[in-house]
Amino acid sequence: MSTFAVTIETIGEVRDHTNADRLEMATLAGKDYDFVVGKGEFEVGEAVVYFPVDSELPQWITDALQLTSRLAGSAKNRVKTIKLRGNISQGLVAKPTALAHEAPSILQAQVGDAVTDILGVTKYDPPPVMITHGELRPLPKFVSKYDIEGAQNHVALAGSLMDERVYITEKLEGSHWSITYLREDDVVYVSQRNYRIEPNGKGEHVWHKLAREGNYEQIVRQIADELDAQAITLRGEAVGSGIQGDYYKLKEHRLYIFEIEVDGVPLPAGAFLTLAEQYALPIVPVLAKDIILREWLDEQTLKLASDGRSKIADKAREGIVIKPMVEQRDDAVGRVFLKQRSPAYLAKSDF
Ligand code: ATP
Ligand code: MN
Repeated sequence: MSTFAVTIETIGEVRDHTNADRLEMATLAGKDYDFVVGKGEFEVGEAVVYFPVDSELPQWITDALQLTSRLAGSAKNRVKTIKLRGNISQGLVAKPTALAHEAPSILQAQVGDAVTDILGVTKYDPPPVMITHGELRPLPKFVSKYDIEGAQNHVALAGSLMDERVYITEKLEGSHWSITYLREDDVVYVSQRNYRIEPNGKGEHVWHKLAREGNYEQIVRQIADELDAQAITLRGEAVGSGIQGDYYKLKEHRLYIFEIEVDGVPLPAGAFLTLAEQYALPIVPVLAKDIILREWLDEQTLKLASDGRSKIADKAREGIVIKPMVEQRDDAVGRVFLKQRSPAYLAKSDF
């Protein structure tokens, strides 16, 4: 599960801001976030409350931090990636004592603890794609909510992939689409990230239209027969008109497939690519395959390497997704694969 949490962290480094006398740049121990702080405000090793990007703060916190109406979003209370005097800043930190008046138990929290609920912080979620031609139902059997952990939040895990052979794709800015054939029901289901979309007879939902146009019902049935599977799920990113603001300005609707799951288990990259070719599936742009991550990076950090141009339109790329060629599991995160959203893209985007 991709974990959103406001946590207690320790300040890792503090260094000069290259462009502002009254600001400094700081990091957290064990994380890969850079953020702006006031000069002299924080010391290395000091325990702080870290509000990651996408935190929506209650007003008592913005008041306490003198940030009321100064953050992002319609309520001006959301932490987002910003560029401050030329430096990218991701997240906000506060001294626990600055929040103790309203939330005294914060003073008992230890480094690593999540304090999201104590503080009443919530995660920003983009508005759902409008549903008019369908009813939302629970996801089908064998299908779970898809989540990718962020590399900046899992520095050790990202480090463990450095000398592995990996598969790297472009992370597209759209909305999650999936189709599932379930043998026990002999039915095909179409879903968004959190819900299945049940047709309601009032017209065709865009997700069903995409399934029909790509002939996906037949494809998932054929793959299920070929692999003698109970369930086959194809996942992709839907982009275009009306979806996440149509970031790529495509006007039409398109689908880019990035995953095939057999009985709920994702195929490794090699098998995925073979099947995708066999069924002529439109897949997300592949940036590299079967390459040692360290070699692909060529001395760049993951953050820098994630910046770039999209391969589907002349726009900044949202980021990258990295999978080991051989699927791996980790006790803490489950399936090992990571996203790195481009800090440059995030700083420019207006949501
Ligand atoms: P948010 O909900 O904050 O906007 P998000 O929807 O992009 O973020 P993330 O957890 O950041 O969710 O990323 C996971 C999603 O990225 C997946 O559910 C999938 O829809 C989308 N995605 C786009 N491109 C890819 C890709 N190449 N590989 C895997 N997932 C991708
Ligand atoms: Mn997305």
